[in-house]
Amino acid sequence: MSSSEFAADVIVVGAGNAAACAALSAYENGASVIMLEAAPRDLRGGNSTFTGGMLRFAFDGADDLRRLVPEMAEMDLANIEFDTYTEAQFFDDMGRLTQFRCDPDLTEVMIKKSYETARWMLTQGVRLELTLGSHAFKVGGKFKFWGGLPCQIWGGGPGLVDALHKSVEKAGIRVLYETPAVGLLHDDDGVRGVRARQDGRTVELRGRAVILACGGFESSAEMRARYLGPNWDLARVRGTAFNTGRGIQMALDIGAMPTGHWSGCHATEWDMNAPPFGDLAVGDSFQKHNYPFGIYVNARGDRFVDEGADFHTFTYAKYGREVLNQPGQFAWQIFDQKVTHLLREDYRIRRITKAEANTFEELAPKLEGVDPRRFLETVKAYNEAPRPDVAFDPNIRDGLGTTGLAINKSNWATRLDKPPYHAYGVTCGVTFTFGGLKIDTSSAVQDTAGRPIPGLFAAGELVGGLYYHNYASGSGLMSGAVFGRISGRSAAACAASRR
Ligand SMILES: Cc1cc2nc3c(=O)[nH]c(=O)nc-3n(C[C@H](O)[C@H](O)[C@H](O)COP(=O)(O)OP(=O)(O)OC[C@H]3O[C@@H](n4cnc5c(N)ncnc54)[C@H](O)[C@@H]3O)c2cc1C
Repeated sequence: MSSSEFAADVIVVGAGNAAACAALSAYENGASVIMLEAAPRDLRGGNSTFTGGMLRFAFDGADDLRRLVPEMAEMDLANIEFDTYTEAQFFDDMGRLTQFRCDPDLTEVMIKKSYETARWMLTQGVRLELTLGSHAFKVGGKFKFWGGLPCQIWGGGPGLVDALHKSVEKAGIRVLYETPAVGLLHDDDGVRGVRARQDGRTVELRGRAVILACGGFESSAEMRARYLGPNWDLARVRGTAFNTGRGIQMALDIGAMPTGHWSGCHATEWDMNAPPFGDLAVGDSFQKHNYPFGIYVNARGDRFVDEGADFHTFTYAKYGREVLNQPGQFAWQIFDQKVTHLLREDYRIRRITKAEANTFEELAPKLEGVDPRRFLETVKAYNEAPRPDVAFDPNIRDGLGTTGLAINKSNWATRLDKPPYHAYGVTCGVTFTFGGLKIDTSSAVQDTAGRPIPGLFAAGELVGGLYYHNYASGSGLMSGAVFGRISGRSAAACAASRR
């Protein structure tokens, strides 16, 4: 091992959204900072680079959005209904989706600081744009936003990570690439640095405070099987191969408190022929989230979920688990021509598992692995399910549901009757894990006795307690930014007190 060196006041482990926000915030608060990234430079930024850049925050109407999206000044807004997404709505969504298990203190901080943090991100070079077309459909000549997500980051995940890293570079913060942290330097006074691997050697980097922002354990098949359960080792990983749970383990090794939904994770519908880990050339486009406008069938030819239970932003993160639980861990999504204009770009990429036919009889044998006879019965029953006389409207929960089926569809249940029919083969893609480290509202990591571990802070995916069972799209980047920023401030103050 090479001798230990003093690296900086604050050592940030990771280089994704949470880590970059943490580093920039520590710097703003007067600390010298160094970042450690396990990946090489061209793969930097973890899952943050793979995101579509959806960002959830509370806002009160178009004026709040105008402050975030200056381009709105040049737009004709007469035919766009923005509505609001108040703090109370955000709280309701977090409560409902997590079955009221989310940590109330952390949730409150995330929500109350969400709008101000989005504005702070702009000061760090991040740009936002409206999500017209993907989160607001044009109906009767008017766009109406639904699901509380009117904004995404310009350039998606790569745009976000580039913008933040430009600011990191401008601040003179060094990033050590291909330098995974493997342990914490720890004594009776708390954490004093990290042990890392560099060029095949173990090095010790001393600092006055450490921020762990190095992701969950979704990329470790062994940990997935151990904590999430049987068959999770078979799931595809939607993002980085570098989030192997090491950061969580390092903290547990020195007595940190595990918390949250350790057997839970965010997992979605993902192309059945996608590679084992994410591919930056495709980004998040292996995802197939428009099932509310069609039906799902499994290998037996049966439907197995209420595809229209809610907007996809509130179901997509738990339906990956439903697909994993089907025989063979796959399913097909079926659509007709009435809805193809509503399907996202992700349904038009080149690397896609797709079948197409003019009749269901022709389509059935093309659905690899599916019982064709039962599939035809399922479609017939679905198309005959009596539905109230309600108009289809993709911008609202339209109540156009089925009745009398073993599993009814609650909304957007139009008949499949306009050929050609399209089918898309999907499996389960794991996004990130929910269990992690317990932090307080200052981002300080707690020990198993509930006391802060001096000098240790955490932010992002490896924090436990925010998500249980399900997840509201766009809140991962927001929680990383909010607690990243807070952890930077707290770590800088800690470093100052230890100088
Ligand atoms: C395909 C996909 C699409 C998504 N879309 C969205 C979206 O639109 N909106 C949204 O809010 N969320 C989205 N998410 C979730 C989002 O990516 C995460 O919530 C968020 O990016 C987590 O940020 P993070 O900084 O905590 O982790 P990451 O961005 O994963 O960063 C972790 C970093 O730690 C590094 N690292 C890991 N181990 C070590 C180690 N031992 N030492 C040093 N470095 C290490 C990694 O290389 C990486 O740089 C998506 C995720 C995926 C996979």
